[in-house]
Amino acid sequence: MERYNLPVGGIEVIISGSRSSRPETVTATRKPAPAPKASHRQPMASPRSKPETSRHHGPARYVASRALIFATLLAGFGNIPVYSKIPSGDDESSPGGTSNTIAGTLHTLNQPLELDLPDHVETYAGHAVDALPSATVGKWELHRITEGDTLTGILSVLDTTTTATELLASEDVAETLTTLKPGAKLFIQLNNQGIRQLIYAPAGRNAYVVSLQDGLFSGKWSKELFDEQQTQVAFTLNHPFHYDANKAGLPISITRQLTRIFRNDVNFRRIQIGDQVSVIFEDYFYQSERIYTDEILAAEFNHKGKVYQRIRFPMGNGSVRYLNPDSDLELKQVAFDRYPIRGGRLSSGFGSRRHPIFRSRRMHSGVDFAAPKGTPIQATGDGTIRFVGQKGAYGNAIMIAHGQGIDTLYGHMSGFRDGLKPGDTIKRGQTIGYVGSTGRSTGNHVHYEFHVNDEPQNPMKVKLPEKGILSQQEINSFRRLAKNMSNQLSRLRETASIDRNLRQQFGG
Ligand SMILES: [Zn+2]
Repeated sequence: MERYNLPVGGIEVIISGSRSSRPETVTATRKPAPAPKASHRQPMASPRSKPETSRHHGPARYVASRALIFATLLAGFGNIPVYSKIPSGDDESSPGGTSNTIAGTLHTLNQPLELDLPDHVETYAGHAVDALPSATVGKWELHRITEGDTLTGILSVLDTTTTATELLASEDVAETLTTLKPGAKLFIQLNNQGIRQLIYAPAGRNAYVVSLQDGLFSGKWSKELFDEQQTQVAFTLNHPFHYDANKAGLPISITRQLTRIFRNDVNFRRIQIGDQVSVIFEDYFYQSERIYTDEILAAEFNHKGKVYQRIRFPMGNGSVRYLNPDSDLELKQVAFDRYPIRGGRLSSGFGSRRHPIFRSRRMHSGVDFAAPKGTPIQATGDGTIRFVGQKGAYGNAIMIAHGQGIDTLYGHMSGFRDGLKPGDTIKRGQTIGYVGSTGRSTGNHVHYEFHVNDEPQNPMKVKLPEKGILSQQEINSFRRLAKNMSNQLSRLRETASIDRNLRQQFGG
């Protein structure tokens, strides 16, 4: 078994075994853009575009692949680009979806490792845009427009010295950027904290481009020059992970995301030779130049013969998770909060105690939290309001039914949330009322009970029920997404394997 040990703080590669002279092959598939789009595309200026082949179908693909490998071996290419670009929204059933295969031999291990980053990492810095100043300094940022977004609001969180007034000084720019369309993308290129360029992409391939010239911002619509694409990259590891990821042309942000996504599955310091990585991510291009690389959509790590997959899934609450399609559908979380208030002090526990007023031993069927009058009281779980009002010794009280035989009760409140009535659904963490001292009470506190099948349980000790992290609706939509993404990852892996076999035939 050949392994690379990467000590903390430096890169040191320990290689043993006879396979060290094995050439490394990098593979990518490329779905050509649909014909109408392709006619508008210019060849990419970066060296990555060199090996892109023309479209082939069926068996021709293998011939092309062999020919390319053969030519590559003869030419002794040093660094083969591995990008494949798929216009977003193109699924497997779309016409023109035949994958082309590009394979090439990279450096062998008996050559010294170059620790400098490959040239293509500079794609992170901005690029010249049509009819704009040609300097390529500055970094692009992406802002996704949501309901109610304004340019002023976006600039206020951007840490830029450019004001909305400066940006909107031209009538044309003001007219276009005053109303931002939800779902649109706004790319902003900053240079020394000032805005250099801005690309507003509301839909499709048209974009409104604003640039700074002679101190003034001017804008114009550019037709068919903006592209949103999925990029697919597959590579086999023969070196430390970051090194091979760089060689495969992965932007640094994607490499970092991979190490985060797979940190529990893969020991990145002990990568095994032959481990395989496939990744699909979103790329944004203007005039065929990459301006921005977004998050990973799906990724696969074949580590020591075991395949780990993660699919990006936006959750209902706005957060994003990378889920394992095989197991994470069952992910559970505790469905209740332990306490009904934030802060506060447990002033009386559950069970038998001497009653502060009657001075006789009584069962305390809940727990008390002392807190100042008016402190908000929150529902500890999702449920339906069963009771709101005066309830004897409990004073102002609320009861919530949570299903599965669970009810909670909150007593001695000074008041209720406005308009709350029986039958209302309530979410965990929502304020239902305020701490007080109504009913049989000696001071401001909330009395909290947790009932299971009408029996009071100790709220501090009862085993809180769990529920799935995903709703049924989310599970269904994740299943659809995961199926599509898993298929793409499998195809990517298979293509990589075919190329490895071909390489072994030709390269020994
Ligand atoms: Zn109490």
